[in-house]
Amino acid sequence: MEKTNPCPFCGSEKVEIIQPIEAYKVFGVLCTKCIARGPAGKTKAAAMVAWNGAGRWTSVEDGLPEGRNKWGSAWWLVKTPKTIPSRAMFSDGAWYAQAAGGGTYRVFPTHWMPLPDPPEDNRD
Ligand SMILES: [Zn+2]
Repeated sequence: MEKTNPCPFCGSEKVEIIQPIEAYKVFGVLCTKCIARGPAGKTKAAAMVAWNGAGRWTSVEDGLPEGRNKWGSAWWLVKTPKTIPSRAMFSDGAWYAQAAGGGTYRVFPTHWMPLPDPPEDNRD
């Protein structure tokens, strides 16, 4: 299991993944020092990604992305054993990269993470 980042509010590393209300079957990261709570996720991995945000790799063995990223698309940053990190789409349980001439081809990443946030100064 990958590690969760320290609490962004108080800096404590005493954070844990909890299932606050079992009936809803969602997970969330809780800081046990200041009681800050991260966004809910359907899996422990999703809750960890929501807490950590961009910049942290999640092993595909720990969890896979759900739904769309904060850009509204299904593209993620992935790392495969033989390539530098690149963009790939997760759809129906499989990963696809965009081919240079159009179309897609399957890739088999070991890790993934959300794409980074846009820059503050966005002139396009
Ligand atoms: Zn805290």
